[in-house]
Amino acid sequence: MPGKPKERRCSECKAPVVEKPTVIEFGDQEIFLFHPVVCAKCLKSLCERFSTVCANCGGAIPPYSQVGVLKDEGGERQFVHMSTACQTVGSAFHGYWGRGKLHNFIQIEAC
Ligand SMILES: [Zn+2]
Ligand SMILES: [Zn+2]
Repeated sequence: MPGKPKERRCSECKAPVVEKPTVIEFGDQEIFLFHPVVCAKCLKSLCERFSTVCANCGGAIPPYSQVGVLKDEGGERQFVHMSTACQTVGSAFHGYWGRGKLHNFIQIEAC
């Protein structure tokens, strides 16, 4: 017996989520989120709580997105957008910016 299609629910507030991806406007950016399943309202609040600042353009980098990672003199990590405008030659790392935390941190081999 074919079951009902699995209902998608917001992983934050458990509200049903019908659209995929979830799209919101955050600052001057449009954010598309496929995974995890989060409703637009919760995604907005996640962006407000967990976004970080791009060291290049000063804009917000929303959670659940790919980031370029720079190291400044003091060894502090700085993040930049994974865009041609912000991804400068100096960035030797990239990773995935989650809920205020860096995941899948990868060093790009220098050649
Ligand atoms: Zn929600
Ligand atoms: Zn930027």
